[in-house]
Amino acid sequence: MELSNPDKSELTVWQVPVQHRSGSEERPLTELRHVEVVALGKLDELAVSVAAANIQALLGLKIRMVPPWADPDYAVVPGRGQYNAIPILKDLSRDLEDSTLRLGITSADLCLPFLSFVYGEAQVNGKAAVISLHRLKSGPDGKTAPSELFLQRLAKVAIHETAHVIGLTHCREQGCIMCFSLELEFLDELPMAFCPECEQERRRRIRA
Ligand SMILES: [Zn+2]
Ligand SMILES: [Zn+2]
Repeated sequence: MELSNPDKSELTVWQVPVQHRSGSEERPLTELRHVEVVALGKLDELAVSVAAANIQALLGLKIRMVPPWADPDYAVVPGRGQYNAIPILKDLSRDLEDSTLRLGITSADLCLPFLSFVYGEAQVNGKAAVISLHRLKSGPDGKTAPSELFLQRLAKVAIHETAHVIGLTHCREQGCIMCFSLELEFLDELPMAFCPECEQERRRRIRA
């Protein structure tokens, strides 16, 4: 697979960032059965439905749609116009049964204290993930991406981050949705599928 900027590939693609480990608590394998999908603030309902449907299809977990939560403005980073994903994850992980994990979706631009932006962030083997629609809408030349492409990216990010919560980590197999993407061009090249090893791990984790 050709990368848009091969010089940066070592840094952007194969780096296994530590941010996914932040805030996560080790959880024994449990009877994980549901993903609660929640819009954080007012969002495009189609986008939320597409994320939910794809998680159900690829991860094999049932979806529970719940009414939107308030916009997580407590996470605003002063001077950056972005939201820090960490406090949002903390909020999303509260009051959950062991059989359920929660995915929050926001239109805000997400970042971490040590990373200028993220498409999503998850507690590996934890309880919650959050994904952002913000950067997925960017097309070439600063235009808006076609709706189909946007929804495809959203589905990939939603599956990737939710899989982290189940316990899957980053993968070096190029034909795998668990590859780490920092660039949209790379995300667009990823298949909507797990490599055989990650697929086996997914099954083990949810006892499918
Ligand atoms: Zn990841
Ligand atoms: Zn893989």
